[in-house]
Amino acid sequence: MGVEGFSLVSEDELKEEICRVMKSLYERGLISALGGNVSARVPGSKDFWITPSGVFKGAVTPDDLVKLDLEGNYLEGFLRPSIEWPMHAAIYRVRPDVNAIIHAHNPYTLGLALAGIGLKPVSVEAVMVLRKVEIVPFAFPGTDKLAQLVEEHIAKGARALVLQNHGVVAVGANLVEAEAVAETLEEVAIAQYVALSLGKEPPTIPEKDVELYMKLYRIQ
Ligand code: 13P
Ligand code: ZN
Repeated sequence: MGVEGFSLVSEDELKEEICRVMKSLYERGLISALGGNVSARVPGSKDFWITPSGVFKGAVTPDDLVKLDLEGNYLEGFLRPSIEWPMHAAIYRVRPDVNAIIHAHNPYTLGLALAGIGLKPVSVEAVMVLRKVEIVPFAFPGTDKLAQLVEEHIAKGARALVLQNHGVVAVGANLVEAEAVAETLEEVAIAQYVALSLGKEPPTIPEKDVELYMKLYRIQ
């Protein structure tokens, strides 16, 4: 391991991995042709690579990616960076533990939020991977207002947020962790939705058991 949280990956490998994650999210229906973006911090630096704006999300290649610093200054690349770069930069600024960010449009997670239903500790994954998922009030995509709201909600250490009327944010120490969070959001939302659509209020894991899991698996 190099700097904490990073395995020793080259910048080229990091860019390949961003593209793999985009393709996988697209194939799973968590992002759409023009919705969603992914970024990753360059190991040991303040800069990050982010997907481009307004291109087909299912086939992004390393040459399409754009490198920015935390103030949004352009460093490398040919295309326009994602309009959500202020949100990505804001998260990196307040969360030194975060090295990868996914903004996806998870349909079931969003659908539950639109119905006023938040994600609950209905499964072990919901407890261990997601913990508490807050719903951020609506702000227009790509705005400083959205970046500011997300910053306020993520600063406390959350792994995931729901953006009301829009989508989700999932973060991790690396891209695979952020990917696991984005996938788990949808897994938990679908399980909750199935129970609710069968007319049942899903039972949740009791708080005392949540604490036990945390201790057992050394989760803070
Ligand atoms: P970009 O194509 O600019 O990344 O925007 C997609 C999106 O999901 C905006 O919220
Ligand atoms: Zn979006």
